[in-house]
Amino acid sequence: AADQAKALRGQPGQLKDGYRIPLLANVGKPKDADPALEYGAEGVGLFRSEFLFLGLDNPPSVDEQAKAYQELLERFPDRKVVIRMLDAGADKPLPFLTPEDEPNPALGLRGLRTLKEHYQVLDDQLTALAQADAATHADLWVMAPMVADEHEAAYFVKLGKSKGLKKVGVMAEVPSIALMADKVAQVADFVSIGTNDLTQYTLAADRILGSVANYQTAWHPAVLRAIKLIADAGNANGMPVGVCGEAAADPDLAVVLTGLGVNSLSMTPVALDDVRAELRKHTLEEAQDLASRALDGEFYHPQGWEL
Ligand code: PEP
Ligand code: MG
Repeated sequence: AADQAKALRGQPGQLKDGYRIPLLANVGKPKDADPALEYGAEGVGLFRSEFLFLGLDNPPSVDEQAKAYQELLERFPDRKVVIRMLDAGADKPLPFLTPEDEPNPALGLRGLRTLKEHYQVLDDQLTALAQADAATHADLWVMAPMVADEHEAAYFVKLGKSKGLKKVGVMAEVPSIALMADKVAQVADFVSIGTNDLTQYTLAADRILGSVANYQTAWHPAVLRAIKLIADAGNANGMPVGVCGEAAADPDLAVVLTGLGVNSLSMTPVALDDVRAELRKHTLEEAQDLASRALDGEFYHPQGWEL
């Protein structure tokens, strides 16, 4: 079965009936681009730009950043590459940006909130991205993490466009943005759902705390219903909606997400083979049926709550 999955590496992501669902890679460092290409990713769905800032006392310069983004984009000529703005805070603290005294860091300054507090970092990163975009031929999409609603989405999209970026979107990681998805679809070019954080915040269970690890599953129908709100708003408004959290790497969940109307899936490169193979076993109608059963809770099994 592993060999069969490997044989499909050059093939696009699609269902049994040919319904297309591009399969993209999550990339944490420029050298992760190698496995992304090796495992047949159609592009990059999440480039975590944090690595550029790790271990430093100050943010990298515009030129240093532009060079790194350019190197990445050059590996994916004419392909979609989604770069995420710095997601500092909570599980990814940075000493020069993240306050040390927050009682609940996951509910504190992180993602776009941190960038707005440190406006020069935000401005410099967008400038560097626009420079790299102008110098290369990839299809660059830029998104902000931890965006709460359509107002924050509009702020970020307007700023990104003012720098000359063509596709500017937001991550959906907070329940509030899912509830406001119809409004978000009016202002954002695209949404990428971060199921790791969306699960953490929907279930109110810290993703790094072992004592509440049972809650950290996107099979929970509440998480799937939040995803459906976003997918429905995207499809009603012609706005692409992807998933870039761990959920996309679970082959069965990938089928359900496709049935919910998500348009692309991004995952750790080693997961691509199995997801690609599983998707090809189901028609869209079957995927939609599985999605409606999942929304009803059929595949979610709570642990330890039976009397
Ligand atoms: C997510 O939250 O699902 C996500 C993709 O971002 P990260 O895991 O980097 O917070
Ligand atoms: Mg996240």
